[in-house]
Order: sequence, then C-alpha cells, then structure tokens
Amino acid sequence: MSDIIQLLPDHVANQIAAGEVVQRPASVVKELLENAIDANATSIKLIIKEAGKILIQVIDNGFGMSITDARLCFERHATSKIKKAEDLFNLHTKGFRGEALASIAAVAQVDLKTNQTDNQSGTHIRIEGNKVLYQETIAFSKGTSIAVKNLFYNIPARRNFLKSNSVETRHIINEFQRVALAHPAITFSFYHNDSEVYNLTSGNLRQRIVAILGKKTNEKLVPINEKTEVVEIEGFVTKPEFAKKKRDEQFFFVNNRFIKSPYLNHAVQSAFENLIAPGLQPTYFLYLKVPTNSIDINIHPTKTEIKFEDEKTIYAIIRATIKHSLGQYNIAPVIDFNRDASFDTPYTFKNKASSTPKIEVNPDFNPFKTNIQKDYKFHYKKDNHTQWESLYNDAINKNENSVENSLADTTLFKNENSSNQTFQIHHKYIICNIKSGIVYIHQNLAHQRILYEEFLEKITVEGALSQQLLFPLEISFSKSEIKLIKEIKEDLENCGFLFDKILEDTIVVKGIPTSIIESQISIILEQLLEDIKNDVPNSSFSQLDVMAKSLAKSLAVKTGQYLTTLEQQELIDKLFLCKQPDVSPYGKKAFVTIKLDEIDKNFNL
Ligand code: ADP
Ligand code: MG
Repeated sequence: MSDIIQLLPDHVANQIAAGEVVQRPASVVKELLENAIDANATSIKLIIKEAGKILIQVIDNGFGMSITDARLCFERHATSKIKKAEDLFNLHTKGFRGEALASIAAVAQVDLKTNQTDNQSGTHIRIEGNKVLYQETIAFSKGTSIAVKNLFYNIPARRNFLKSNSVETRHIINEFQRVALAHPAITFSFYHNDSEVYNLTSGNLRQRIVAILGKKTNEKLVPINEKTEVVEIEGFVTKPEFAKKKRDEQFFFVNNRFIKSPYLNHAVQSAFENLIAPGLQPTYFLYLKVPTNSIDINIHPTKTEIKFEDEKTIYAIIRATIKHSLGQYNIAPVIDFNRDASFDTPYTFKNKASSTPKIEVNPDFNPFKTNIQKDYKFHYKKDNHTQWESLYNDAINKNENSVENSLADTTLFKNENSSNQTFQIHHKYIICNIKSGIVYIHQNLAHQRILYEEFLEKITVEGALSQQLLFPLEISFSKSEIKLIKEIKEDLENCGFLFDKILEDTIVVKGIPTSIIESQISIILEQLLEDIKNDVPNSSFSQLDVMAKSLAKSLAVKTGQYLTTLEQQELIDKLFLCKQPDVSPYGKKAFVTIKLDEIDKNFNL
C-alpha cells in the first residue's frame, strides 16, 4: 500500500486556520484595534470602505515595528507578547496567539506601514495570500498602519457568504464600541466611506459611554463601585425604568477585555429582579479587574469567553453590589446587601417559590380611543360589529379556501343573540362563540395585525397623515442611531414623522403619525431603530414593512389590559376585515378555533 498522508502546503494551512480567526470584516477590525492597543497607542483611527469588504485600515501612534518584526509579524505563531506557557496565566495584552496577522494576510491583500521612530525611515510591506509582494523603505511617522483590502479575495465562497453592508457594518460598529468602551483614555476615530461615524476624545468612563451611546444616556447611569480581594468592579448600570427589550447594551469587561458571560449576565439580571418587567433587559457597562492568574482566556480563538477561578463568588459580588447601588440611588426599595452572598447564586433558584410576574399597565390607556379609530380606512361601520361572524367566515374561507370549511361555516349561527357575546379572559384572550365552536383571540397579536395592515395601507397607498407638534420635540440619539435615521428619513416621513432638524446627536421632531401620542415618540422611535437594525431590510419595501410591524408592535393593546365589551367587539370586527387575520405581523397565530365536535370528544359524546 502506498503512503497517502502529506503535510498541507502553508498557504492552505493558513487559509484553514484563518477561518477560525477571521469570520467577517468585524473580526479583522477587532484584531487590528487590539494590536494597536497592545502597541500602547494613545490615538487610533479606523477607516472602512463598503462595510469593510473593500478596505479596513487601522492607523495607530503606538511603538511600531522594526524591519525584521514587520516581516515576522505575518508568520503564524509569531508574537512579541508571550514567550513561554506560564505567560498565558499572566496576560496583560489583548493578543498572545500570534495568529491574527497571519490569518488576515492569508485571506486578504495587506499593506503594512510601520516605524518605531519619528525621525528615521520606516517599512512598507505588501503581502497577499501570505506572499510578500514587496518591501520598501518609506517615510512614515511613529506608529503602524495596517490596511486590509478585499477580504476573502481568494476565497470567493467566503466572500459571497458575507452579509449585506448594513449587517456587516453593524458588526463592525459593535466591535468598535466594545474596544472603545474598554479604553476610554485612548482617542478613537472611525470613518466609513469617508464620513465620520465616531470621534471619541480621551476621557473618563462616563464620558466615553455618553459619547458612544448619546447624551440621553448620561442621566440614566447609576455608578457601580466595589473592591474585594477576588474582584474589583467599576462601571454603570442604567436605572430600571430604562430597561430595554434587547440585550445590545450589555457590556462586561474583564481586565479591559470585552467578554460574553451568560452566567454573570444572570447575576446582573437577578439584581434587577422585581425592578423591571419580565422580558426586559437592564443596560450595563461593568468593568471587572481580577488577578491575571485567576482567569483563563485561552478557551476561544476570539477570546470573548474566559474561565474564572472563582466564578461563583464573582457572581454573588456583582449581584450584591448592583443591588446596593440601586438601593443607594433610591431605586430599589429593599437592600439585601448583608445577606450571605453564597445564597445568591442561581443554583438556589430551583427551590424558590414562583412569583407572579407583575405587568405594568396603564388602566386609563384605551387604544380604541386614539385617532386610529377615526382614521380607520377599511370602511368600517360602527353598526357593523354584530356581523363579525360572517367576517370571520369570510376570513377563514379566504384563507383556507376549503370547500368543507366554507360549507361548515357559511350559514349563520344557531342562536342570533348569544352569537354576539364576547368574553375577555385573563386580560389576554377574547373568546367568542361561532356556529362550529369557539374562537379565542389573542388581543395583543390580533391588534398588532390590525394596526400593521392599517399602517401599511397608509404608508404605501395613501401617504400617512401627520399631526404637527405645537412645540417641536428634541430627542437625543447616539451617532450611529442618527446615521440610521438619516438613511431611513424618507421612509420615516412616509410613516408620518416630520423632522425639523437632524443634528449630530439630536433630532428635532415637528410632526408625528396621527396614531402616536407625543409622550410615546421617543420610545417608539427607539424601538423602530432597533427593529430596523436587527431586521436589516434590503429593499425599500421591506423597510416600510419593518416600520409598519414595529409601529404595530409598539402601539398594540397589551396583554394584561382590560377591554370593554364594545372594545372587544371592535377588535374582532377589525381583525376579520384584515387581509390576513389569522397571524400577527410577526407570524404568530392571532386566533385559534376549537370546533364543537372537539369539545364534544372530551365528554365522549
Ligand atoms: P498577537 O497580537 O497575538 O501577538 P498578531 O498576529 O496580532 O498576534 O500580531 C503579531 C505581532 O505583530 C504582535 O505580537 C506585535 O509584536 C506585532 N504587531 C501587530 N500589530 C502591531 C501594531 N499595530 N503595532 C506594533 N506591533 C504590532
Ligand atoms: Mg493581535
């Protein structure tokens, strides 16, 4: 038998290894920014073009590289940061694997310019697919510039696999924010396609958070400070009333490195227990300092997961510290700081009695008394609601298009009087009688469907109506949110928003869609931006669709809200006039039918 095993050529091995480190443009951004920080830079500039697909360049004023190092840095396992295995347990740098530049150079065209001094000449190296194309002496000031061009140019499959520019840019912004938040003393700037995204001057932590997330964040922050032998904690959480639906503003840094930790996240979440409604997320920026030998960073190539020696204690300290701070700022009514911390780990949760979640509702809010009703565009007549069963039948037939169903449901109900009756149960479902059985309707999901179709029709067919505000309203947003608002301004206007000005970190709103009340604008716009960020539509129609969905979600009557009989019936009428009444805009069932014979079966009839 002949031998069949052979060593892979270097460039193939490098490409395979690159897959672990370089998943997308954002991974390159992270590695280059971290290298600049490890080089003690005090000022770092990030330039990207076309979401990093054409160019990712990081320029720093750090200590630079010698001619030999400039050549060596592209070799696999070439690092100046550790020398021996024990160093792994005493890490003070972001990098240590010596893999990033080798991986990047395997899958892109890279220009490195570097100089260790301001007065002597520097080095320029051009490398593509791990092959050095040329090396020359150049004039360059102290520091390093690495330009990564046409990522995955030699692996078309991976290049095609990249997501749309908006998705990739979002990932890059996330990486940039994490690094910038971890190092408030360093000046950062960030340009995308020649326009400035961030320009962050050196400052303290609070200033950095506010510079990244917008002025409005300042008043929301509650400082956290605790020093123990195991861990030092510093940073901020936001007050419970600013809890959000998304987890996108939750940051843990351990020894200035951004990490993901579902376990420690749980500690924060539990400190907010009973202070925020279920399903909402606290925002936090927590900086932990632990002895370098008490953690192991070596468990993931992107280094975002680390192992702690004493995770359970850290959990308890985080939880207690946050509770204490929320209490001090008169946010939490009870402080249990003196409890034995070891009781506070999630493992005790299994023995805990369950508590009924509290849902905050405004008992006076009536969605049916807003202007939506006035603007109702589906030729809805007030006296129509007694005939909703025929609407239901029509809707069902329209959707199911089945002969059997239409036969079963087209004749009207047996008993005219009882048919109109509706019941609300658990402030959540509306139940009503139909000839073939009963229907139960999820009030929130059904109302979302109604509002969604209304918004879509208004936006796409009629042009939305706008109500002018008596006093234009100023709302602060972060720079990246402002960028997004500018991008979707026209669509927002189609929805009924009118802007007086869009400034650097504030917008001035002078008109809003007729269905929204003024006090809700800020929260609805925030939700809208978040939904658009996450959905990242590619065509302008789907963008409008996301907007209609988001507005419908924000404005729909919530679970937990009492509805009068009239309101219940109006909701049903409107629902069955919808084009697709059976599902919410997000594809969840809006109602369920139980046939009489199914009920009969339970009684063995
Ligand atoms: P690691 O950061 O794990 O050491 P990299 O491949 O990212 O591995 O970088 C290899 C080496 O190149 C680093 O150890 C460092 O000595 C040098 N280097 C990379 N980027 C820079 C930079 N911006 N300034 C100075 N030296 C750098
Ligand atoms: Mg590195």
